[in-house]
Amino acid sequence: MMRPSVVIVGGGFAGLACANSLEAEHFAVTLIDRKANFEFLPNIHELLSGVKKPSQLRLSLKTAMRAAGHRFVRGDVTSIEPEERRVKVGSEQHFKADYLVVALGSADADYGVIGVGKHSYGFKSVAQCQAIHQRLQSLSRDGGRVVIIGGGLEGVEALGEVLRRYRHKPLQLTVIEARSTLLPTAPAVVGKHIADHCEKWEVNCVTCDPVARITAKTVQLSSGRRLRSDLTIWTGGPAPPALLADSGLAEAHHWAPVENTLAHSSYPEIFIAGDAAELEAPISKQAYHALDMGRCIAANIQRLAGGKVPRRFKPSGKPTLLAFGDLDSVLISDRVCLAGVPLAAAKEAVFAAVMAQLDLRASKVKLNAVLGRSKQATEQLLWPALSNWRELRQQTKVRKLT
Ligand SMILES: Cc1cc2nc3c(=O)[nH]c(=O)nc-3n(C[C@H](O)[C@H](O)[C@H](O)COP(=O)(O)OP(=O)(O)OC[C@H]3O[C@@H](n4cnc5c(N)ncnc54)[C@H](O)[C@@H]3O)c2cc1C
Repeated sequence: MMRPSVVIVGGGFAGLACANSLEAEHFAVTLIDRKANFEFLPNIHELLSGVKKPSQLRLSLKTAMRAAGHRFVRGDVTSIEPEERRVKVGSEQHFKADYLVVALGSADADYGVIGVGKHSYGFKSVAQCQAIHQRLQSLSRDGGRVVIIGGGLEGVEALGEVLRRYRHKPLQLTVIEARSTLLPTAPAVVGKHIADHCEKWEVNCVTCDPVARITAKTVQLSSGRRLRSDLTIWTGGPAPPALLADSGLAEAHHWAPVENTLAHSSYPEIFIAGDAAELEAPISKQAYHALDMGRCIAANIQRLAGGKVPRRFKPSGKPTLLAFGDLDSVLISDRVCLAGVPLAAAKEAVFAAVMAQLDLRASKVKLNAVLGRSKQATEQLLWPALSNWRELRQQTKVRKLT
């Protein structure tokens, strides 16, 4: 019997989790991505200090799909025809699906600021963070000014990583947040807590003055103030990919609307997963939601193929773990906010567990990769902390912020 075909666009958290949950025996699955590798974005900030290497944050999609018995196509999806459930890769390859899963992730929001693409480093991929790492290394030798734009989770994690490695080097650090506090979507105590660290390490925090323009050597603010910058890092947050609207899956500058089963509101055999999806009650753009959505969609495709009714997606409430280099970590949940260096171990444990779950290679190869990641975590994270006894004694407490 012919297996139903499933085409998954995007091999990030949602797309890979979906593909891994579908059995090759029952479905002919094709995963398409412009990148060769899955990238673990929540830990890419660690590339800035060098505590992680690019290979530790990547999984080869070709190898992963081969292990699952699926097909991987590397290419840029240039259009999606929802009525036909057909996608075009590059200028001439076409793929038609019985079930189409769109898991394109998000683009970088630039808020119309001039010069973002040309004069600042993006913070959304392994390659971009590795480029920042190299620039930081050369600046730290002779001194220079680093400006991080965006004081949300990504900007604060980037700052923490720069402080981990370069806080005793001649770098002048500035973080700019358009709103009135750092981490504006977290409880106020968390922003204040990070601002206290910034004060201690002489980081210049600029709030309530959005960036208007970036040039090769300056960052210009709405007030007219100009800051000199040798390295400008842009962490603008997620924006809907243009392909969603171009394909008729969303209105211009919007995410794709989905039913509670994650089927597209207008096309029941097209599922939208991860950042690209907008539920009626929107949820945050987080990796753990993307993973759960990918698995839920795989289950719903199996139900539809078996003549059953799809089930609704129930978002799980997980806390956010914010790393601030080796200086601090913060756990933010609905009920409580905790801070303390030991919480960094929780973030590392989540990273190790999710990478191991997504890696379907034969157990011996997979075990080697897991051991490699643990060895690196011990050498780069654990030993440096344990060998500085005085700092360790000050830092090992976890305290409640709220
Ligand atoms: C710096 C940073 C820190 C973060 N920290 C956290 C955190 O601590 N905790 C947390 O839960 N979440 C965090 N997130 C958010 C999390 O990474 C996203 O929510 C998650 O990656 C979304 O998964 P996804 O599968 O929807 O998209 P992605 O993981 O972005 O995957 C999308 C995939 O689609 C591919 N693609 C896109 N367009 C095309 C096209 N036209 N053709 C072919 N392929 C295409 C991309 O190459 C990519 O592989 C962070 C994100 C960033 C950038």
